Amino acid sequence: MSPSYAYDPDLYEPGTPAAAGRCSHHRAGEPGAETCTGEAVVSFQDQRGRWQAGCSAALEQLVDRGEIEPLGQGA
Ligand SMILES: [Zn+2]
Repeated sequence: MSPSYAYDPDLYEPGTPAAAGRCSHHRAGEPGAETCTGEAVVSFQDQRGRWQAGCSAALEQLVDRGEIEPLGQGA
């Protein structure tokens, strides 16, 4: 399970949707894309170690699936 952090635009390549505050998790074709709010609220690393930005729906779905920790509970 990966830690989660409050969304931080500095983690992303300038010019990418994630750097602009957009959800990159659902854009990658992940399940639940129809629930995407678009606005990034959480930063986390995916299973390949790349930084992703997730919206509030992505945060819920990833926590439910045990992929990331609930926001604010990381070490
Ligand atoms: Zn989303």
